[in-house]
This record gives sequence, structure tokens and C-alpha cells, in this order.
Amino acid sequence: MAGRIPQSFIDEVVARSDIVEIIGARVPLKKAGREFKACCPFHNEKSPSFWVSPEKQFYHCFGCGAHGTVIGFLMQYEKMEFFDAVADLAQRAALEMPREAHRSGDPGSADLHNVMARVARFFEQNLADQPRAQKYVSARGIDAITTAKFALGYAPDSWDALLNRFGSQEEERRQVLQLGMIIERTVARAGAAGFYDRFRDRLMFPIRDSRGRVIGFGGRIIDQGEPKYLNSPETPLFHKGRELYGLYEARQARADFKRLMIVEGYMDVVRLHQAGITYAVATLGTATTQEHLNKIFRVTSEVVFCFDGDRAGRQAAWRALENSLSLARDGRELKFMFLPEGHDPDTLVAEEGPEAFENRLNTALPLSEYLIQQLMVEVDLDHVDGRAKLKALAAPLFARMPEGIYREMLADRLAAQVGMPAATLKKSFQSGDPKRAPTERPEPIVPHRGRISVGRGNLLTQAITLVLHHPAAAAAVKDPESLQGVDKPGVAVLRELLMQAAAASGPSTAMLLERWRDLPEYGRLAELAMAEPLVADAAAAAKELQMAVEKLLEEYGPGRRMDELLRKAEELGLNYDEKAELTLLLKSKGRSRATP
Ligand SMILES: [Zn+2]
Repeated sequence: MAGRIPQSFIDEVVARSDIVEIIGARVPLKKAGREFKACCPFHNEKSPSFWVSPEKQFYHCFGCGAHGTVIGFLMQYEKMEFFDAVADLAQRAALEMPREAHRSGDPGSADLHNVMARVARFFEQNLADQPRAQKYVSARGIDAITTAKFALGYAPDSWDALLNRFGSQEEERRQVLQLGMIIERTVARAGAAGFYDRFRDRLMFPIRDSRGRVIGFGGRIIDQGEPKYLNSPETPLFHKGRELYGLYEARQARADFKRLMIVEGYMDVVRLHQAGITYAVATLGTATTQEHLNKIFRVTSEVVFCFDGDRAGRQAAWRALENSLSLARDGRELKFMFLPEGHDPDTLVAEEGPEAFENRLNTALPLSEYLIQQLMVEVDLDHVDGRAKLKALAAPLFARMPEGIYREMLADRLAAQVGMPAATLKKSFQSGDPKRAPTERPEPIVPHRGRISVGRGNLLTQAITLVLHHPAAAAAVKDPESLQGVDKPGVAVLRELLMQAAAASGPSTAMLLERWRDLPEYGRLAELAMAEPLVADAAAAAKELQMAVEKLLEEYGPGRRMDELLRKAEELGLNYDEKAELTLLLKSKGRSRATP
């Protein structure tokens, strides 16, 4: 997503916006030392655990875990998309959006939609011409009406079928490349074209947006091959975390439906629709996100998650539960349904028919029921410890839920399990610390309640935290590249952060975090960004950081490997490869000594 706006412009927008001003205009903020606090706008609470740091240009809620930059706040609070949030802030700061920035729906994307429609027709035509592909479709039990309704197609078993059709003109080739339908070769082979088709020998499922326009594809391999399913990459038109396969078709089938059922695969959706269960949709190879659920709750108030009963299915279900807690409001129903192990909706509905399948909906567990059931698996209630553990496990989940029936139900059920009056349990969840009375007196500045502290023992975590808290201190580390030789998981993150901080002008915590927005490390980095301060100021941070990096190099770096090899050379002798490695290490050591 972020890729379509230059990083330097995002930096500028973050630098020119004041997070306190933007949040303060929407949420009443109170000054508390160097930071600001408020009752969290994202969960219900009586005493403030929502903190805004003007220094870091970052907010964090210690109750529900909500956090982000000024851009993130607009996305979360105003439900804006990334692009709109940046554009909004740019306008306030009187910055002009760069010309290369664009998004779906903008002029220019009309062309892309047009190309995508033609690509879809190309695949449909291929299916009609290919007996082998047709045979596969009918073997899977899909009839002609359903094939047409879902506009199923076939990507030929060729490296350049699509390329030949769409890639002969420069402009069109650029478009199909942008749409992820062809891939540019990284190594040009003599005599070979610079591009090749992404989808080959696959049954193609076009993914449509709410207006029915094709925005991407899922492709299932015909017969054998890996990967079994392949999706379009993120493109200007297609964002995996937002789209639901089958939603357009579901809405076409019925203007209003009682519920939507989320299943795991394209084939499941197609087969269920064919069986008359036209309220089935699927996420696209990702866990169900809040964006998905927001989309769903705009059209219906009941959602049933349908999972395979095996371990992977149960894991996916728990992730879905975690993502949906904050959306569990009154008037909405969230349910979890598990199929017998080894079955997916596709095979099951074929086996037992639609009526029996729909009867299974009666076995679906409401969210709070499923939550308790899962927690109980992890604790031993015959033990006092078990009850305390249950409470501890439930507290953060409870905090994420908005006030209402769901939360009440959960509290009641939990209270019964831990043998405590429901009111007492709720109170202990809300205050976070049962020992402290919730009186109105000045809060201590640090440490914040619930704020994590970084153990002195973990050098790497400390170093990462220091860069996040004091990005300017990164300049003190002269040669972050030298960390390349450090053999320890997570060091790459530190190296990257150091280089990012050094390259940005006037870097802030928020600027750094924006670079990780779409990466898996983002959550952990955000947490560290709000951890207790390790040092008092930037000068101290620079010193500590330098020392930490030196120590990492000493303990895990090439020096250690060098000693190991030298020792081995003495005792046992080295083989050819080891000798070469040692020579290299000795050389690089000479270099780093020369430039201290
Ligand atoms: Zn919160």
C-alpha cells in the first residue's frame, strides 16, 4: 500500500504533522509529564490508559493495545484508508501530493480495470477452448451455470500466452505488469523475453470488487503442482487484506441475507453457492482482518466462521477470534463452526447435501463460548494457579472488547469458572491492578501502568529500543553494515533500523515505524517504541547504542567465528572452505581496525 507514495513524502507528512493536535481535536487529551493521556477512543474504560507522545509522534493504549503514528490514528479512528490519511495530513500541512502517488479509483485505474476485464475474458475463452481444463472443472462437480456465474477461466500451460496477447505494446505490457499478471525476469536469458506469465496451467477465479469489477485472481493448479493456490500480488487494484471472494456474488444472489459465512477456499465458496448456500465468502489466503469484518458488518449482522476441525483450522479460528474481539458489539453475532476433521465445505456439502450442511450452523459456538472453551484447554482449574492463569489469559482479550452484552456474558462465564463474583472480576480487569483504588490523582509519569520494560539482559532488544526511542542516536553507530556478519536472529532488524534512521533527515520514532507498517515485525516494534525509557536523553542513548552494537559484534560477530576457526586450525587443522573463510575474516578485521 505504502509503496505508491514515496517514502520521503510520507516522512515529510509525519514530520510536518503534530500528533497531539490531530488526536487532540478528536479526543480530549490531558497533559501528563512529557506525554498526554486520555480515555481510549478504541475501547471502553473509565481511567485513562491511552497515551500520546509528542516526542515520538506515536500513540499507544496500554488497555487494548491500539497504537500507531498520526497516519495510523486517522486510519483507525476515522476509518480512512492509508492513501486518504496521508492525503488529508498533506493538505493540512499545505504539502502537495507527489504526482506518482495514486490509488485505485483514481483516474488511470479506469484503464487498469479495463485491462483486467479483458484478461478475465481471455481466461474464460481459454477454458471454453480447453477440454482438459473443462474436464477438471466437471470432475470437481462444478456445473456450467456456476462456471459462468463466477466467470471461471483457465490460464494456459505456457510461459507467454498472456504476454503474447497483452504484452506486444509497451503501454499494455506495463499495465499487465502493474496488475501482477506477468513477472519481469530478474536475470535476462539470451534470446528470452524479459517477462513471463504469472499464472500457468491454472483454473482461474476472478476476484471482484463491490461493483463487480475484476481486481485480481486466485489460480488453482490443474492436477499436481506447487503452490496449489496462487493469488494476485498486491496491486493498485487489489489488496488481499480487504477483499472477500464471493461477496459480490453473494450480494447478487440476494439483496439481503441473514448472515455471511467465512470459509477458507475459493472452491468452497463456489461449491457452496452452487448448492444454494449463497452467503459463503472467503478471505484470500490471509487471516480474517478487521477490515474484512468491517466490510461484512456493513451488509449483515451475523457472521459465521467455518473452519476445518484440524490443528491448522483451530489456529486460524483463534486468529480470527482475536481479530474480531474489538468488533463484538451488541446487535452483532459472531460464531465459530468446526467441520469434522479432514473435511472442507467443498467435499462435505457434496457428500451430505446443503440441508445437512446448513443444519451444522446450529452447532456453531458463539464467540464468548468459543473463547472460554479455548482458554480452558490451556489451564488446569483444579489448581489455584490455573484459575489465576485463566484470569490472566482472559484479561487482555476482555480489554479488547467494547462494553456491551458480549463482555458481560464473557465476564459472567469467566467469573463462574474462577469462582469469583462477576462484579469483582470485572473491576479487576478494568483497573488492571486490583490493589490500586481508581482515584483521581496525578499519575506518575513513568513507568506507565502496563508499560513493558526491556530486560537489561537482552542486548539486541535494548539496542532496537534505543534506536526507536532516539533515532538521532543511530548516527553514533559508524558502520551499521558491519552487523551483516552477526549471526543472531533479529540483528537484521536492528541493522535496517540503524540505516533507516541514518538515512532520514530529522528521523522520529513515527517515521521509522511507518517504514515497517506492512511488515510482520511492526507490532513488536510498536510495543518497544512505547516501552519504558532505557536512558535519559539522546546523548546517553548514543553512547549505550554504540556499546550495544560493539558488544553484539564481539559476542556474535565474525570475531567469534574467527576465534573458533583459529582454535580449530591449531587443534585439528582446517579444510579448504574453512581456510578461505578465515582468510576473509582476517581481511575484514584488518579493514574495520583501519577505520575505527
Ligand atoms: Zn484502548
